[in-house]
Amino acid sequence: MPTLSERDHAVLWHPYTQMQTAPLPIAITRGEGSWLVAEDGTRYLDAISSWWVNLHGHAHPHIAARVSEQLRTLEHVLFAGFTHPTAVELAEQLLEILPENQARAFYSDNGSTAVEVALKMVLQYFHNLGQPTRRTFICFKNSYHGDTFGAMAVSSRGAFTEPFWPLLFDVKFIDVPVPGREAEVLAQLDALLQNPEVAGFIFEPLVLGTAGMVMYEPVILSEMLHRCQAAGVLCIADEVMTGFGRTGPLFASSLLTAQPDLMCFSKGLTGGTLAMGLTTCAAPVYEAFLSDDKMRALFHGHSYTANPVACAAALASLELTRAEECTEQRRRIAAAHAAFRAEIEGQPGIRAVRHRGTILAVEYDPGEGTSYFSRLRDAFYQLALDHHVVLRPLGNVVYLLPPYCTTDAEMALLYTVLRQMREVVLDFVPAPNLPHILHD
Ligand SMILES: *Cc1c(COP(=O)(O)O)cnc(C)c1O
Repeated sequence: MPTLSERDHAVLWHPYTQMQTAPLPIAITRGEGSWLVAEDGTRYLDAISSWWVNLHGHAHPHIAARVSEQLRTLEHVLFAGFTHPTAVELAEQLLEILPENQARAFYSDNGSTAVEVALKMVLQYFHNLGQPTRRTFICFKNSYHGDTFGAMAVSSRGAFTEPFWPLLFDVKFIDVPVPGREAEVLAQLDALLQNPEVAGFIFEPLVLGTAGMVMYEPVILSEMLHRCQAAGVLCIADEVMTGFGRTGPLFASSLLTAQPDLMCFSKGLTGGTLAMGLTTCAAPVYEAFLSDDKMRALFHGHSYTANPVACAAALASLELTRAEECTEQRRRIAAAHAAFRAEIEGQPGIRAVRHRGTILAVEYDPGEGTSYFSRLRDAFYQLALDHHVVLRPLGNVVYLLPPYCTTDAEMALLYTVLRQMREVVLDFVPAPNLPHILHD
């Protein structure tokens, strides 16, 4: 009898995976709290919330109950010409907690489509206003906004997108204003804002996830938003990763003194239960689409727009996220990260430690110019698995982004693994120019 992993290997094609060389996938049959349970009974601590989506633990009974009730009431209805209670209620509740200028919510299917919708809203906003020459975007050099074409175009021109570079529309890149580089980046921004073709600025607020959990401060991002908005450039906060409490407050944008014109959400939106995307915008953006002329409407939509079951999952998750207990859980995780950071920062083998809210990133120093494709990455990945911990190092950067229900004892296990990784680094013998295989 072949195992589930072997049957998978015969028929499936996995994301971000070199299928020829990747080890067999681990078959998970059950989830419970922060743990994933494999076919053979082995339990794995999900330290990265299953690719940043899970907020309150796996198979959460409250979310499951709401989803199951919704499935038996209304599973789906088209969303043009029709509406339904969970879509309305979710939009009402979200607009209540988002920055107060956010006025309208547009549903889609995932983070990439939430970004596509935002980009199209910005471009058509200027088209509808009779300024179609405003059609380019300012983006951060190491940014990641998704895998569809528009989202790739506003993301870093990195190894992931190289086969598609010639087909990606042109954008203007600026550096990330990490501490110490703020003035330089402001100068880059000011220069680009002279360009009358710039329509929008899209950014991952405060933490660039895929770039390696690169962090920068609210003060400088607020200043950048003020300057963009003074120049008539629309600002898009991609909160797909940072949304729903990851950085401490409910949204990273809550820490800014400026309000983005548009916002994108997905990963934590349903608590990690079902795929859904959401783009919100301020009133002036929405109003530019209002007209007696049908052609000014936003002609974008997906078959499963505002799926009632996904909306029900989101409502159930939001209820948990807004509860005092969740705020307390996030505070506890942030405090544990801060203590671990104080312990490990400055030790041999550690290049940098970054921390904001429930996200901790340790950049190890293997003493060479290591990249994402570093051999070290695989050693780290395996070491974590040996400890029954799921981590996906970004090269020499290892980050924790745990579900909020993760206990102190579970956090202690994660820090033990991070300490052992430092031992691995100190023993690491670099082999430069080794061709390497892309996993993630
Ligand atoms: C993951 C991510 C996306 C893409 O979301 P998908 O649901 O994977 O399409 C977009 N932006 C950011 C910041 C992300 O982290």
